[in-house]
Amino acid sequence: MIPGLLTPDTILNLLKTEAPSEVENLFKTADRVRQNHVGDEVHLRGLIEISNHCVRQCAYCGINVLNKGVTRYRMTEDEILTTAMLASKLGCGTVVLQSGEDPGITREMICTIIRQIKDRSQMAITLSLGERTEADFSAWKQAGADRYLLRFETSDPDLYHSIHPCQSASPHHRLELLKTLKSTGYETGGGIMVGIPGQTFSSIAKDITLFRELNLDMVGIGPFIAHPETALGKTAQPHICHHRDQVPATETMCLKVLALTRIICPDINIPGTTAIETINPESGRRNALQCGANVLMPNLTPVKYKRLYEIYPSKAGSLTSPQEAFDRMKNLIRSINRIPGRGKGGRKKDFD
Ligand code: SAH
Repeated sequence: MIPGLLTPDTILNLLKTEAPSEVENLFKTADRVRQNHVGDEVHLRGLIEISNHCVRQCAYCGINVLNKGVTRYRMTEDEILTTAMLASKLGCGTVVLQSGEDPGITREMICTIIRQIKDRSQMAITLSLGERTEADFSAWKQAGADRYLLRFETSDPDLYHSIHPCQSASPHHRLELLKTLKSTGYETGGGIMVGIPGQTFSSIAKDITLFRELNLDMVGIGPFIAHPETALGKTAQPHICHHRDQVPATETMCLKVLALTRIICPDINIPGTTAIETINPESGRRNALQCGANVLMPNLTPVKYKRLYEIYPSKAGSLTSPQEAFDRMKNLIRSINRIPGRGKGGRKKDFD
């Protein structure tokens, strides 16, 4: 299997195959490509979920504005800084600030936090604060932010619109924002959910091709997990779910997408996500690391807030302390003979 030779048809066939030998070959190839291109280091990104306020109505997400049952929180600047310093002390090369789409998080507040983290640590800073203005993106870049994560969820325009009601009229706003982020100078991350009701195999094949066309630096992949307090979680859709072209939201399916992504984009950063761990608590992350992933994101959000950032139910690690989350990841890395990453672990040479 040579990366350049994976035609759209081959991608589609590999996504659909259930032949154990083909699946095993796919996973082994991805693991080899990962080792050849990004090596054995597994980079640790300390994740801080800084706010669960959100103005959006995303049909899959448990913290969307319509879910009135959520107790909302926004961490203070001090709390964020203290947690970021913990990430640095634990040895994370990167801190990731993630939130719902929260206008209460101002441009200035994030600029101040970025400067303070940069003053006091060597860490790279990744932001994942949803769809914001170009002016926000540039101000944060100038203040010192390094990377931005914004999954496009699906490249299928109709499906995208159906799960993102009341959003801008442009055909696929997030694809445009990803281009803006790249041209603003961010290392840029996209990604998708696998198994969204109505999502087809051919649309996932397109998503994977798009990761490469957009020249994304990072790609996050996780299963769709139904949340009962969301539009998608409430509407049983048996007619769609039983459609023969419906992609299943299973671990194996996610691992296939992950493996193909590694083969097609050999040198990017790919995390073993919390969502994969949630559907296979025993070995989901380990399997991801052995099918192409090279990043883990221990969740360092203070425990009192963590359980409120419930984008889907039973999220893995929602009761775990930051220290324990970090130790578990380090042990996992060592248990499969890989190496905890040093430095910032960016896609480009860091010179650090
Ligand atoms: N507000 C930010 C961060 C969202 S949470 C943003 O919009 O970018 C990060 C990711 O979690 C989302 O991009 C989505 O892919 C994933 N997610 C949300 N709800 C989910 C669910 N029910 N099942 C699986 N993944 C989900």
